[in-house]
Amino acid sequence: MKTSEKLIILAGAAKYDASCSSSGSNRNSDGDGTGNAAESGICHSWSADGRCISLLKILMSNDCLFDCRYCLSRRSNSQERATFTSEEIASLTINFYLRNYIEGLFLSSAVYASPDKTMADMIEVCRLLRHKHAFNGYIHLKIIPGAAADLVQQAGFLADRLSVNIEFPSEASLKRLAPQKSKMSILAPMKQIGDNFTGFQLERKKSRNSPVFCPGGQSTQMIIGASGESDFQILNLTESLYNKMSLKRVYYSAYIAVNEGLYLPALTTAPPLLREHRLYQADWLLRFYKFQAHEILSPAFPNLDDRLDPKAAWALRNFDLFPIDINRASYEELLRIPGVGILSARRIIKTRRVAAIREQDLKKIGLVLKRAKYFITINGKYPARSSLSHHQLVDAMCRAESPAARKLLQNSRQLRLF
Ligand code: SF4
Repeated sequence: MKTSEKLIILAGAAKYDASCSSSGSNRNSDGDGTGNAAESGICHSWSADGRCISLLKILMSNDCLFDCRYCLSRRSNSQERATFTSEEIASLTINFYLRNYIEGLFLSSAVYASPDKTMADMIEVCRLLRHKHAFNGYIHLKIIPGAAADLVQQAGFLADRLSVNIEFPSEASLKRLAPQKSKMSILAPMKQIGDNFTGFQLERKKSRNSPVFCPGGQSTQMIIGASGESDFQILNLTESLYNKMSLKRVYYSAYIAVNEGLYLPALTTAPPLLREHRLYQADWLLRFYKFQAHEILSPAFPNLDDRLDPKAAWALRNFDLFPIDINRASYEELLRIPGVGILSARRIIKTRRVAAIREQDLKKIGLVLKRAKYFITINGKYPARSSLSHHQLVDAMCRAESPAARKLLQNSRQLRLF
């Protein structure tokens, strides 16, 4: 099979990984204008400093020994299979890089021989790139569950970011839907990466000569909507992954039905995109807004409200804590106000060092007044003018939702109708 044919199969198979997005466009140039988009697995990701970077996102192989029920590449599916050699991927990456198509590589794989052999071949790709081609670009490498600890260690010295997919929010779902994977085969490498990441960072502070281990940290991916866990379970797990495993990101992947079978949602099930969106918003609250999972949800409220973003839902449930005066609130209190982001909270603190903030200053500061006005006072004045009942407030906050969320909500309701 030609490398270009393998590329089409293995870039297509990689699109189910949520860690990068935007693969799959195929728009050829008609001779006018600049550039064209091809189904060659080029996708975009974001670097630690916020830059958007293009990555070659492919699988090493889709010829899997495992039979995870939800996966297109599972052993029991009949489909075209392909496996790259390490040299082929290294050569593709460097050639795409030299042509300015990409700035890095995102490499995952099905388990085609054994976890160790697959992992060793993926590491060989990194070794060829780093040592033979002197490639200093970004490499994100998936760790194969069950791969030996010394291979995980080698991967960490070659890649910028590592990720081990946790797949499901509970061990019971993992057993049911991915019977060849075990909780330990996922958590052990995660813990190893977390410990090494922290350990080598400390070493680097003592000596600039100590080696760099996985400088971009580690991430993971959880499939949403294929199993029965609540958002409360998902957020609790997420919080403990951030706290105990030093994870940089948890990605949520709305389940896409590609197989039929026992324990799986029907093939006609639409991916729960709105739920995925709400989980990303809640995740943002955990990482940047100093919220804890038990504040966002609880056994009494186990699922995120699909009509409202999680911060607005929290504020409406805790309305007795409001209104907060913009000129007196601490930074932490400001962060809890719907419509106030990290940047606007910082600007409020900075501005009021010079003079008290007035209502006309709020727009310039970046505060979203149509959301915040029900929760704040400005020098004792309530900018919403009149107070609303709980129902009216919920309605007003739903109307103030972002256009993206409103569109997802509309789509999910339409899909439910049919
Ligand atoms: S290990 Fe499971 S999820 Fe990964 S490619 Fe194989 S069947 Fe798919």
